[in-house]
Amino acid sequence: MKRQPLGPSTCAIHGSPERLSDGAPITTPIVQSSTFINPVGGADEVLYTRYGNNPNQLEVAKRLAALEGAEAAIFVGSGMAATALAHLTVLRPGDHLLASKWLYGGTQDLFTDEFERLGISVSLADVLTDEWRRHIRKNTRAVFIETPTNPLVRVVNIEPIAALCREKGLVLLVDTTFATPINMRALEFGADLVIHSATKYINGHSDVIGGAVAGSAEVIEEVRRLLKLWGPALDPHAAWLVERGMKTLAVRMARHNANGMAFAEWAVEHPQISAVSHPGLEDHPDHDVAGATMDGFGGMVGIHLKGGAKAAEQMLQHLRIASHAPSLGGVETLVSEPRVTSHARLSATERQALGIPDGFVRVSVGIEDVQDIISDFDQALAAR
Ligand code: PLP
Repeated sequence: MKRQPLGPSTCAIHGSPERLSDGAPITTPIVQSSTFINPVGGADEVLYTRYGNNPNQLEVAKRLAALEGAEAAIFVGSGMAATALAHLTVLRPGDHLLASKWLYGGTQDLFTDEFERLGISVSLADVLTDEWRRHIRKNTRAVFIETPTNPLVRVVNIEPIAALCREKGLVLLVDTTFATPINMRALEFGADLVIHSATKYINGHSDVIGGAVAGSAEVIEEVRRLLKLWGPALDPHAAWLVERGMKTLAVRMARHNANGMAFAEWAVEHPQISAVSHPGLEDHPDHDVAGATMDGFGGMVGIHLKGGAKAAEQMLQHLRIASHAPSLGGVETLVSEPRVTSHARLSATERQALGIPDGFVRVSVGIEDVQDIISDFDQALAAR
């Protein structure tokens, strides 16, 4: 009898479920070993934790591949390592990378500072309009987008971009860290490779740095080859923590989605907040795209405070439950100011042009009781 595809929670909890033998542990044991016995005279794959084939690394990879609907996945030591290795897999010196200008600042720096140094030219283009098409060159080899974007939570329509990439033979890489495979699966819309900072929602508990790439078995094997050579492996204990975090990914995301929406609706009504960016709001420019391509709008909310940077700092000083910290996607509410974190390298004018003026704060709405989160922001704004 044909097996029904498994739901996301079952995939995340069991990987590919098999009946366990009597006495078998219910959770994957931590295999905190750098190396493994190699059969003498054997030609089997060498097991070595830097190679990404430690049992804990393989368990999380299996689960992510199932969730993304990918042939294969691989976990590495950080989201930045995942982005770097995924791109180095497909790009060579002389190639051109066409990247979205709506990016996490660290990714942008990797492209402009490091890739250019390796002889890979990079253009940043607006993938929210058709403008990006004009940047395709003869030597363009790959297109990179992040969706939803950091920090404005804009949602890119992947399908038309994927269609043109297919027509022109370009590889499409998509960072869906903000969405997770629970809210969106980019491969379903024609992406070739999906990248995650597993540091964020995938692990979900702000206690691990990790990253992952999912896609075809062939390309993931090439990422593995580069992982062996460049070396940014995920530690087995960290992989074990990610596996534990992933087991609750679907329920956490359901709560992040609900809390994000409730927080955004509160923020819209607040007299000291001039604008709110959350794709669940009907007036968000990508509300329709998000509705058509995502299963949930997520827990990331951008708020513009009247009174600029001073107002933001005053509010941040008075928050008691939410913490002022970079990063996102954990169970606890975190607030960051792109002005001093992810977009600190840009001038105030450049940030303004990107729609993140001083006074903009990014809220990663956690899974606390949402009324408590809202009350915390209410009192912090009143205390100014
Ligand atoms: N991609 C996105 C969208 C991010 O927000 C981040 C970090 O904030 C990264 C990638 C890099 O991830 P990591 O910090 O795990 O290296």
